[in-house]
Amino acid sequence: MTRIALIAHDRKKPDLIEFAQTHESQLREYDLIATGTTGKRLREETDLEVERMESGPHGGDLMIGAEVAAGDLDGVVFLRDPLRAQPHEPDISALLRICDVRDTALATNLASAAFLIEGLAE
Ligand code: PGA
Repeated sequence: MTRIALIAHDRKKPDLIEFAQTHESQLREYDLIATGTTGKRLREETDLEVERMESGPHGGDLMIGAEVAAGDLDGVVFLRDPLRAQPHEPDISALLRICDVRDTALATNLASAAFLIEGLAE
């Protein structure tokens, strides 16, 4: 089954929730994982089943990166906050890097996220 990770920084979480609600029927076709807080909100605010990793600052980004490295993930939607530095920036960079190493689809904004989930449906 196609497996996708969903991650959003705090100020982007409302956008990700809205995106997931809008695309809920499409996302239901996928195996979903998320960082801790993002996953908690997705579970509470949508009807999607989401596997939760640790929260981002506690290694969740790295856990998702490890799945990318293992070839277990087909795509990553990561809505980053471009205006605020994050304390776990090295972990975030590592996740983006491994997506490029493995040529795994990566979307960091809503416009490309829509392409990603539609593209993986094909
Ligand atoms: P969170 O992690 O979903 O646990 O907030 C996301 C992140 O900060 O990378």
